[in-house]
Amino acid sequence: MSETKTQATLTFDFDAESLWMSLGQMSPQPMSRGKYGAQVGIERILSLLERESIPATFFVPGETARRHPDKVRAIVDAGHEIGHHGDVHEAPATLAIDEERKCMARGIEALVDVTGKRPNGYRSPSWDFSENTLGLLKEFEFEWDSSLMADDFRIYELEDAGGDGTGITELPVSYELDDAPYYLFAFMPVYLAGMSDPDKVLRIWESEYRGAAEISGLFNLTMHPQITGRYSRMQVLERLIKTIKDSGQAEFVTCSDAVSNLKSR
Ligand SMILES: [Zn+2]
Repeated sequence: MSETKTQATLTFDFDAESLWMSLGQMSPQPMSRGKYGAQVGIERILSLLERESIPATFFVPGETARRHPDKVRAIVDAGHEIGHHGDVHEAPATLAIDEERKCMARGIEALVDVTGKRPNGYRSPSWDFSENTLGLLKEFEFEWDSSLMADDFRIYELEDAGGDGTGITELPVSYELDDAPYYLFAFMPVYLAGMSDPDKVLRIWESEYRGAAEISGLFNLTMHPQITGRYSRMQVLERLIKTIKDSGQAEFVTCSDAVSNLKSR
């Protein structure tokens, strides 16, 4: 079936407190927003995915694995995939190569400690690379990445600065298919006025899905437990899943399965 079906990947960046730590906001209010993702958001998401029998990919920073090992184990026990998402949600471009290598290694170590398994996919916490990131992804033998934007509904191979293929597959992301620009509200570091009407977000996501389905491509959606985990937004996710299922044109898969299914066509 996967030869012709759209590959729908529901991905969740399980940042928890690490998002706010990386922004230097470690006072009780922002840290509690992170904790909400681990205590409330994750439970709602896991329960919806179980009801719908959908496998998903969760990108987990090392800090989240150390703070919430039981939640990360629950994700794995439910059959979902875990990807690398930094150590304490660092933006790679702010790190010297030795620091970036250390963050990558510490992130892997934390995930192996909790899940017993090495991740084979990566998502940059800032959705951007430093000049060293690609080389480090090869060094640590990652097979795919999901941070960049040179396509929308098609996977592609990342090339090095010289234009040579790296063997690393990109599952492109986009701000259109990310819950944060629509919903995330924060006063600092800049005033981000999220709080979009969930119905508006659903209309955009359904339209993007139709685009992916037209070419039986990839529909790669990014969400965050501390953002989409709110009740009103979970309704949007549930309705989107229904739209995708009712179309009969897609299968929900992990990022690793999407890569192997799309590459085998
Ligand atoms: Zn993140």
